[in-house]
Amino acid sequence: MSRLLYQGVAGIIDRTVGLSSDSAIDHSLRRQWQAAQWDKLREECGVVAIHGHPDAARQAYLGLYALQHRGQESAGIATADGHHLANIKGMGLVSEIFTDDVLQKLPGQMAIGHTRYSTTGDSALLNAQPIRVDSTKGLIAIAHNGNLVNLGNLRTRLEREGAYFQTTSDSEIIVQLIAHSRANTLVDAIADSLSQVEGAFSIVMMTRDRIFAARDPRGFRPLSMGRIRNADGPDTIVFASESCAFDLLRAEYERDVLPGELVMVTGDGVTSRYYATGVPQASCIFEHVYFARPDSRIFGRWVQESRDQMGRQLARESGVPADVIVPVPDSGVTAALGYAEEAGVPFRLGLIRNHYVGRTFIEPEQRVRDFGVRLKLNPVRNLLEGKRVVLIDDSIIRGTTSRKIVRMVRGAGAKEVHLRISCPPTISPCFYGVDTPRKRDLIAANQSIEEIRRFIEADSLAYLSLDGLLQSCNGEKPQGFCTACYTGQYPTQWVDVNEILPATAGA
Ligand code: SF4
Repeated sequence: MSRLLYQGVAGIIDRTVGLSSDSAIDHSLRRQWQAAQWDKLREECGVVAIHGHPDAARQAYLGLYALQHRGQESAGIATADGHHLANIKGMGLVSEIFTDDVLQKLPGQMAIGHTRYSTTGDSALLNAQPIRVDSTKGLIAIAHNGNLVNLGNLRTRLEREGAYFQTTSDSEIIVQLIAHSRANTLVDAIADSLSQVEGAFSIVMMTRDRIFAARDPRGFRPLSMGRIRNADGPDTIVFASESCAFDLLRAEYERDVLPGELVMVTGDGVTSRYYATGVPQASCIFEHVYFARPDSRIFGRWVQESRDQMGRQLARESGVPADVIVPVPDSGVTAALGYAEEAGVPFRLGLIRNHYVGRTFIEPEQRVRDFGVRLKLNPVRNLLEGKRVVLIDDSIIRGTTSRKIVRMVRGAGAKEVHLRISCPPTISPCFYGVDTPRKRDLIAANQSIEEIRRFIEADSLAYLSLDGLLQSCNGEKPQGFCTACYTGQYPTQWVDVNEILPATAGA
């Protein structure tokens, strides 16, 4: 059961429908429970935009459905029909919120959508997106993936200038900057606003008659543009955080929105301009390691290709005599396939994941917590018994989950358990939209690899080298990547740590 947000303003339908007063609490508990049980970094957000489709809301819904892995806490869709701007958002999964009845309330040929796992601002429904602001430049709805790092200064300045913030989300700062810009046209005001914010943002915006899409100058988060060909009229233009959304929409991938680029789509077609140039690219390499789906093409490269190469490189760097290669599902699967092929050792699905854990609320009582990882994973005993097993995973965060998995595999009769990680040790928190524990909770920030090996009780442990990771993710055209969580070297000039720490501390 979901709770939806509706607010009524002249010319606007921005709604909340209370279906269950407990559901926000349920989601918070669900999230705490999931975090306690599964030691993974959390996805950030996913965005979509549709221009020129008679049922834009349903297209946005399909796009968000394909991007559900990027955030499961809340979702929203705003639509425009040339006159009105409707906006509905709620807590829960996209399919829980947007039933047929709800989609009927979203008329128009344009839509933007958002699915969220909160990174800044609290996780209340108020901060769900799209955010809609009625400004001197007209009605604007915005959906944002990423995290701004100079929000403290900007918010203070804007409040001094009379801005009234409706949310605690950093995304609203962009809209307030647009509203307070002295530029004469909306597109100039957007460019002016984007050039003032620092950090990670892939955004889609909508007015009554236009769609905008933009990426920050370093290109931290992905954002792609696609096209649905219409035989009897103009093409539908679509944007999505990941290209996997285009498949469900039957759209062709056209290109990535480039770092520092602002694309505008109107009834007259697509135009583009750069509001920032000459900034070194720093796309999030962890998108390739874990966040993005392997069937997506991001930063100009298929995620599947990168993960396959990570596995192969891992086998070359730290191969060990073994009988089977077993992925920690699901994210370790592609790298494990690459490792197995390179090592010439059979790939086996020796761990089976229960996909329905966390999809229904489970009371987080101690007796349930004690099931731990066993609720989510189960070993296939006949594949593991008496075998030398290489387990492939994509990260060790606190180490507690890895230890449980190693114990589980050994408990199923494995003779040896070797753990291989398809990226370098995670030693620093992320300030660009990924929910990371504090440094003191990151095991690799505080212990040597040998100490971690002993803690997780593996026979051997090895990580992919940073060079190996960069090689794996660089296709024919080398990219600039952010690797700050592995190196501690942040690509932005400064990080407003005090502003961001309270939001990340709960992970
Ligand atoms: S710090 Fe890590 S997770 Fe964050 S943007 Fe950089 S590479 Fe991605």
